[in-house]
Amino acid sequence: MPPNETIVLIGAGVIGLTTALTLQTHLSPSQSILLIARDFPSTISINYASPWAGAHYRPIPGTTPQALRESSQARRTYAAFKRLVAQEPAAGIKEVEGIEYLENPPEEYLEKRGVEDAYSSYLDGFCQLRSGRDGEDGLPEGVKWGVRYKTFVVNSPVYCAHLLRRFVLNGGRTMTYDLTDMNEAFYLGENVKTVVNCSGMGLNDSKSFIIRGQTCLVRNPCAITLTRQNSDGTWSFCIPRPLYGGTIIGGTKEPNNWDPNPSPETRAKLLSNAAKWFPFTAGSQGKFDVIRDIVGRRPAREGGMRIEVERIADGKTVVHAYGAGGRGFELSVGVAEDVVDLMFENGILRTKALL
Ligand SMILES: Cc1cc2nc3c(=O)[nH]c(=O)nc-3n(C[C@H](O)[C@H](O)[C@H](O)COP(=O)(O)OP(=O)(O)OC[C@H]3O[C@@H](n4cnc5c(N)ncnc54)[C@H](O)[C@@H]3O)c2cc1C
Repeated sequence: MPPNETIVLIGAGVIGLTTALTLQTHLSPSQSILLIARDFPSTISINYASPWAGAHYRPIPGTTPQALRESSQARRTYAAFKRLVAQEPAAGIKEVEGIEYLENPPEEYLEKRGVEDAYSSYLDGFCQLRSGRDGEDGLPEGVKWGVRYKTFVVNSPVYCAHLLRRFVLNGGRTMTYDLTDMNEAFYLGENVKTVVNCSGMGLNDSKSFIIRGQTCLVRNPCAITLTRQNSDGTWSFCIPRPLYGGTIIGGTKEPNNWDPNPSPETRAKLLSNAAKWFPFTAGSQGKFDVIRDIVGRRPAREGGMRIEVERIADGKTVVHAYGAGGRGFELSVGVAEDVVDLMFENGILRTKALL
C-alpha cells in the first residue's frame, strides 16, 4: 500500500533528526515522514544550535521532576551511544574518560539520590573522588566535589550529518523551508494530520529563551573531557571532537545574551584557564593553535523541554519536542523515545516495531 499520510517533522537539529529516525521504525505502511527545516547539517547559522555544540555527555543531578525526567532520557541516550560506538565508528561519537571538578558544588550534587540517579547507578567506571586521597581517586586542591567515569564525546556536525544520511537512506524525505507559522506545515505534504515540532525554540513560545555559549576550537589534542565549575559559577571544559574535529575549549552560559560576536576577552580567559587545568600534551606548553571562535545559542525553555501533544482545529495534532537547552545531544535518544511513546498513547502511531 503506498503511503498516503504524511507526518511533517520540523527541525534538522539533533532532536529532530533523532526523533525522525526513531519514528521511522514505527510507521505503518500508509505513513511517511517529510522532514522540513530552515537549516540542515550543511548550513551555518547562529540560530541552529546543533553544529555548535561541544559536545560531550555530562550528567546533571537533581530530584525535581524535570531533573529526574532528564536523567531518564540521559540514561537511555548513554546506552544508545554505547551501542552506536561499537557498531558505527564513523558516526562521530567516541568513548573517553570524563572528569568533573566542582570547586563549590550546588546542593543537588550533595544529595545522594540525585547523584545515584544521574551518575553512579549506570555510568561505566564511575568513581567518586575524595579529598586527602592521592592519585586518580583524589581531588585537586580547591576542589570540593569530583567524579570520573566513562563518557562520550560527539563531533556534532559529523553526527548530525550521519543521522540525516540514515534518515534519507531509510526512505525519509526532506525539504528546506522557513516556516512563519506552525499552520503552514500542514500544507507541505499529502494528507498531513500530524506535525512534530522539533524546532529548537518552538515557534513563538514565550517560555523559550536562548543561552549564549562562546567556545574556542583548537588544534591541540586532548585525550579526555574535563569539566570544572569554578567558585564564581563559571565553567571551564575541554572536549576532544572525534574524527579529526579538533578540541573544543569552553565555555560560557549566558541566558538571554543575543551578542553574535565572539568576545576576545572571553577567548583569552577560556584559553588561560585551559592552560592551567586541562591535560593537553606536553608539546602544547600552554599555547593554543586556534582554528576559530564559536558562538552558539542553546534553545532553552522555562520548566525544561516541552514534550506534549496539542490538538488544534480540524482533527490536526502538533507533537512538541523542543527546548533542550544545553543538553540536546545527551538527551536526544531518550527524548525521541518519549515522543514516540506519546504518539502511541495518542493513537498517532499504531505499529509497535519489534526491535
Ligand atoms: C556552545 C554550545 C555547547 C553545547 N554543548 C553541548 C554538550 O556538550 N552536550 C549537549 O548535549 N548539548 C550541548 N549543547 C546544546 C545542544 O547544541 C542543543 O541542546 C541542541 O543542539 C538542540 O537541538 P535542537 O534540535 O532542539 O535545536 P537546533 O539544533 O537549533 O535545531 C532546530 C531545527 O529547527 C529548525 N527550525 C527552527 N525554526 C524553524 C522555522 N521557523 N522553520 C523551519 N525550520 C525551523 C532549524 O532550522 C533547525 O533545523 C551546546 C550548545 C552550544 C551552543
